[in-house]
Amino acid sequence: MATRYDAGVDHLAALLAGEPSYRVRQAWDGLYRRLLDPADMTDLPLALRQELDERLPLALTTAVESVSDGGDTVKWLWRLHDGAAIETVLMHYADRATVCVSSQAGCAMACGFCATGQAGFERNLSTGEIVEQVVRAARRALPRRLSNVVFMGMGEPLANFDRVWAGIGRIHHDLGLSARHLTVSTIGVVPGIDRLAGAELPVNLAVSLHAANDGLRDRLVPLNRRYPLDALRQACARYVAASGRRLSFEWALIDATNDRPADAEELAALALPLRAHVNLIPLNPTPGYATPGTPPSGVAAFCRRLRALGVTTTVRRNRGTGIDAACGQLAAGPPRAQPARTVRLSPTRMESTSTSPRRTTPSGHTTERTSSPSTTAPGPTTEAPPEAARLAAR
Ligand code: SAH
Repeated sequence: MATRYDAGVDHLAALLAGEPSYRVRQAWDGLYRRLLDPADMTDLPLALRQELDERLPLALTTAVESVSDGGDTVKWLWRLHDGAAIETVLMHYADRATVCVSSQAGCAMACGFCATGQAGFERNLSTGEIVEQVVRAARRALPRRLSNVVFMGMGEPLANFDRVWAGIGRIHHDLGLSARHLTVSTIGVVPGIDRLAGAELPVNLAVSLHAANDGLRDRLVPLNRRYPLDALRQACARYVAASGRRLSFEWALIDATNDRPADAEELAALALPLRAHVNLIPLNPTPGYATPGTPPSGVAAFCRRLRALGVTTTVRRNRGTGIDAACGQLAAGPPRAQPARTVRLSPTRMESTSTSPRRTTPSGHTTERTSSPSTTAPGPTTEAPPEAARLAAR
């Protein structure tokens, strides 16, 4: 059975065969423009609402919803129909909101410093599973508008290209978010970058670089052995030439590993000809990686050095570390054999959050509200453009 946001217009039309044709448009608008459950589509007759509700089930079941940063960061652990689990993170800003979506359950790229990579690959997400993450976050964001979608959750989006691309089409055309506010992040899947370069919608591309010489990148990012830096650089150049969009490089700063002056110089040499923007992320802790992130003073020094070399650089504000919702920390919670009801907190985080209230929602799900101070990296924070696409909440 197609899930609610897997179904296309044709599918909906088939479900509504025998009804006046305007019902299809009403139901589609209900799902995508008004973000409604069929039960709440009061412009449809009751029997139709019930039928749509039954025949278009939701794909995502909430297992845990966690909140931190004073309510500004929300993370969901969702259960899928086959028991697989994924996570989605919603980040509120003053006047808008960004959602970080997963493209796969797990990830096959095996980057040692990333919690998802440590957990391994489970399966690709369907288009509906991707789009529904955006819809559920958009509802939760109200009355703020959801303006930005970043494919920086679990998985490698370019390894699930077709479904991700179909999802981007729905997010742009049907949910009404501008392609300019959609960002695909890749570890460097060269054929996927080329497909993106030839695609019709001009989305933003972020490349998770982390090292600018092959010796170090081979160690940090196993896929580099298949698509080494020179091939990646050329694909990035083709992307910039074809799309006219700005490219950004993500760089997780790892203590005494990729944070030395020589690393900044190599990065600048790669970034400058491509006019790439660099986003620095102080490495977040994950269970399977012992090396710590670069301390704040080192992050600031690395940022200054890059800027002195002429590279536009920002330091990403670290959101959601108290609920394991920050970059690289998404691991879909406890193993699925266990009931996924409580938020997993490491002993140190347990201390910092032990006074936070834990409450059980009417549906029986545990909601953890953590109040640990947000760790804000030095330097300016990354902010997406304020002129936000309007996700109508009419
Ligand atoms: N697979 C895609 C999408 C994941 S995006 C990609 O790699 O781009 C997640 C981002 O967080 C990537 O830039 C990733 O390299 C970064 N990341 C992974 N582990 C991290 C960690 N422990 N701390 C900070 N950033 C991390």
